[in-house]
Amino acid sequence: MTWHATVLTIFPQMLPGPLAYSLAGKALKAGAWRLDTVDIRDYATDRHRSVDDAPFGGGPGMVLKPDVLDAAIAGAGGLGPLINLSPRGRPLDQARVRELAAGPGVRLICGRFEGVDERALEANRVEDISLGDFVLSGGEPAAIALLDACVRLLPGVIGTGAALTEERFAECLLEYPHYTRPAVWQGRTVPDTLVSGDHGRVRAWRRAQAELLTRQRRPDLWERYCAAVPEKAGSGRET
Ligand code: SAH
Repeated sequence: MTWHATVLTIFPQMLPGPLAYSLAGKALKAGAWRLDTVDIRDYATDRHRSVDDAPFGGGPGMVLKPDVLDAAIAGAGGLGPLINLSPRGRPLDQARVRELAAGPGVRLICGRFEGVDERALEANRVEDISLGDFVLSGGEPAAIALLDACVRLLPGVIGTGAALTEERFAECLLEYPHYTRPAVWQGRTVPDTLVSGDHGRVRAWRRAQAELLTRQRRPDLWERYCAAVPEKAGSGRET
C-alpha cells in the first residue's frame, strides 16, 4: 500500500512546498507516496470561519480551538500515528523516522499562533514531536522536514539503497567530510587516502574522521556510540 501522509493545517498552500522537488517530488509524482492536505478552517462552524480563540487564563496569542481541530482530525482520515509538531515534543531522530517510514503513513497537525487546545490532543491521543530546541512560527516547516526524512527511506525513492545502508551503519556518528573534483581547488588538495584507490583504507579513513568529528562536536552522540561499540570507549581522546 502507498505510504500516506495527511497534513492538517490552516495554510494548505504551504504543501507540498519543497516536497514537490527533487527526490521527494519525483517519488510523489511516481506514486511512491501520497500527500493529502486538510484545511483546518474547513471545519470551522461559525460565520467568520474562526479557528482560534484567546487563551483561558490570559496571556498573549491565540489558541487553536478543540472542537474545530477535533472535527478536522475526524474528517481528515488518513493512516498512521497522529502527530502534533510542537517544540515540547520528543525531539525527532532517525530511529523514529525509520519507524514512521516503515508504517502505513503519518497524520500531522501543524499548529500556529500560541499552540493547540490541550483537550483536542488528549482526546485523540496525539503524540508531540519536536524538530529541536527552537521555536518556529508554525508547524508546516517542521511537517515538511519530517516528511522529507521519511520519504527518502521509502522503497525505491533513493536509487540503490547503498547510500542508506552506509548511513545506517554510522547512525550514531556525524558524517565524514566529502570531496569531489577538482583534486586541487584554490590551492587546497584532498586527502591522499581518498585518491589512493584502496577501498579498505578509504573506509578506515572515513570511519576515523566520523569518529573524530563526533567526539569533537557531539559528546552526546559519542557517548551513545561508545555504548554501542564498546571497544571505542576510552579510545581516541588523542586527536
Ligand atoms: N507557544 C509555543 C510556540 C508556538 S509556535 C511555545 O512557546 O512552545 C507555533 C507552532 O509552531 C507550534 O504549534 C508548532 O506547531 C510549531 N513549532 C514551533 N516550534 C517547533 C519545533 N521546534 N518543532 C516542531 N514544531 C514547532
